[in-house]
Amino acid sequence: MHTDQSTIVIIGAGQAGAWAARTLREEGFAGRVLLIGDEIHPPYERPPLSKAVLSGEAAPESLHILDAAALTALSIEWLAKAPVARIERADRRVILADGRAIRYDKLILCTGGRARELDVPGNTLPGVHTLRTIADAQRLGPLLRTGARIVVVGGGWIGLEVAATASKRGAAVTVIETMGRLCERSVPEALSAHLHGMHVAQGVDVLLGAAVAGFARAAQGPLEVMLGDGRTIDCDTAVVGIGLVPNDELARAAGLDCEGGVLVDAQCRTSDPDIFAAGDVAVARNSWAGRRLRLESWQNAQDQGIAAARSALGRDVDYDPLPWFWSDQHGTNLQIYGVPSPRHQVVVRGDPAAGSFVFFYLEGERVMAALGGNAARELRFARRLIERRTPVSAQDLADPAVSLAKL
Ligand SMILES: Cc1cc2nc3c(=O)[nH]c(=O)nc-3n(C[C@H](O)[C@H](O)[C@H](O)COP(=O)(O)OP(=O)(O)OC[C@H]3O[C@@H](n4cnc5c(N)ncnc54)[C@H](O)[C@@H]3O)c2cc1C
Repeated sequence: MHTDQSTIVIIGAGQAGAWAARTLREEGFAGRVLLIGDEIHPPYERPPLSKAVLSGEAAPESLHILDAAALTALSIEWLAKAPVARIERADRRVILADGRAIRYDKLILCTGGRARELDVPGNTLPGVHTLRTIADAQRLGPLLRTGARIVVVGGGWIGLEVAATASKRGAAVTVIETMGRLCERSVPEALSAHLHGMHVAQGVDVLLGAAVAGFARAAQGPLEVMLGDGRTIDCDTAVVGIGLVPNDELARAAGLDCEGGVLVDAQCRTSDPDIFAAGDVAVARNSWAGRRLRLESWQNAQDQGIAAARSALGRDVDYDPLPWFWSDQHGTNLQIYGVPSPRHQVVVRGDPAAGSFVFFYLEGERVMAALGGNAARELRFARRLIERRTPVSAQDLADPAVSLAKL
């Protein structure tokens, strides 16, 4: 029985939604909590979808954040396979696709995003995949077997993780990237070169500056990936990893301010004071980046989900996280703290070729961001240097003999 009469509705039963729901209970909210999702699974974490789940080493159930029993124990009403069709702000209710109407006092949007599709002919042919959900990973995993020819479209984080997993499973992998280098938007040239070398050393073919113009398949024939320059690559399976489209349509249709996602303030509040947003769908000003951004990361989904729930309960919240992201490829653990920018001075510590290294990004004597490979301990210190705004010299950072702990 709920002693409080108010209702908090969360749309999107993913990582941010799960943490928001759990936090409402942990903060003592005794009213009704509804967690509405459109997938069949209880809330789960997605990072292993391109890693251990795709390689068959982890079961999808191991990703669950809260299973059905845990949700019941927390008295969270979880609606599965229940897409929300619209938000009626004037009446404070959400309308499900099946027509049900649910009244809310506070609403938290955690609708995440979906894989961006490649807008070319043949993109819906069998054999062309994207990866965002457990269902996607279950379809794709068995196809990444020894001898299979896999084309990965997009040399960003998810594309490269799929390429690494597929090659580990014995597939012949080609990565096609339109830009001049891998992960061009998020890492410096030296790291792109390192990633490139790492993939090539594992037998992955990397085509840079190459655009996919379409897919075709003759009866019984292979899937043909046609490039803009006229070349064609035959394969069994293509995986398109070209980014994410935020699921902000509900918010936009309801008249909330959106700009490449749902705009929120440091209290995770949208332009409607009773509606909050968190996770991949939310755009907020980030002081570490010096601009507004949408953080697509595990850390942000959890922490902003928690912050949005606390804010919905009227607690003091000032959410402005130092962004953190990691990726695992070919046995290398890469981590990024902060938001590297071309205007930063880059200082390297260690040797990328030797496998363990950190790139520091400096503005004057301040470390603004750090990116490392197989350097978890050093990155922990780098994080402190960033958060404490400690003045440092480029010379000390570059010298492995100078202890970061002492700095
Ligand atoms: C393959 C993959 C690998 C990743 N690897 C890493 C990594 O290594 N490191 C890292 O930091 N991050 C990684 N991420 C990113 C991280 O998983 C996401 O940032 C995180 O899942 C975002 O959580 P979210 O709750 O905002 O969105 P989601 O987890 O996408 O949840 C949103 C949920 O809302 C549902 N929904 C949408 N619209 C509606 C509607 N109208 N009605 C009802 N439900 C709706 C969606 O179907 C979904 O279930 C990875 C992501 C993927 C896909």
